[in-house]
Amino acid sequence: MVITSELHAAMDVLDNHADKMGSGPYCELAREMKSVADSMCAHEAATQRAFAIEVLVDVPAAAAAKGVDKFMRDHEFVSTLVHRKGVQLQSYEPLSAAIMGHAWKVEITEALILFGDSSTLVDVRRGVLTLLVARSGFLPQIVNRLNTEGVTPRMLCPLDLNETPVSGDCGARPLAEDILQNEPRMLRWLLGMGELEKWPQLVAGEDSTHVNKLVQIANNGGGDDENVNEPCACDDCMGVRIPTMDKSIFSIGSPESGPESGNEMMS
Ligand SMILES: [Zn+2]
Repeated sequence: MVITSELHAAMDVLDNHADKMGSGPYCELAREMKSVADSMCAHEAATQRAFAIEVLVDVPAAAAAKGVDKFMRDHEFVSTLVHRKGVQLQSYEPLSAAIMGHAWKVEITEALILFGDSSTLVDVRRGVLTLLVARSGFLPQIVNRLNTEGVTPRMLCPLDLNETPVSGDCGARPLAEDILQNEPRMLRWLLGMGELEKWPQLVAGEDSTHVNKLVQIANNGGGDDENVNEPCACDDCMGVRIPTMDKSIFSIGSPESGPESGNEMMS
């Protein structure tokens, strides 16, 4: 950037005359220049961030692009993004907004959950958590994407399911508890159940200890409540829902949701 190089030149001049200036004025000037440089960097970062939001509101697939992926790891950034998308869609009539909102959620989920080989499983976990922390009801899109990518519950959360991570995966965080605290209903997928199956109960017996733990975490996280991961409309959060197609038509694991879903819900 032009201004930065000029600032650098000024700092060099200052350095060259340091001995003539005396340490007091030199230090003071150097400090001032450093703060100017820092504020310029911060300004540039904020501009890039704002630009990335503008792009992603209309082109969600860009979330996987180099340079943008760093923003997508920032939960606050993603929360701002889904809020912006929700607000944008409010200006459309309901059916169009639902079609566009649905497509947008599917595309951003595809960009964030990309399974290549086992070494990418940690990124898949992070992608899932990022979408859930954004609190915009991403569960159906996440489950469909994981199933399509061939990621099974024991691949996503091996340690929580008492399994060894697949070769090449370190099993690192986020864990099932991080996921369930944000979206307890993901419990069904983790346990290989369909969306319409009865909510799992705590069961007695040594074999089911890890299952009990997951059920407990999901219950503490709000249990079988479809509103837990929906945007919060309180004055602090001011969440705005991204409209989608009728959930009863596109719900996960339901008989209407097409031939691919049902069996793939099982691990
Ligand atoms: Zn709130």
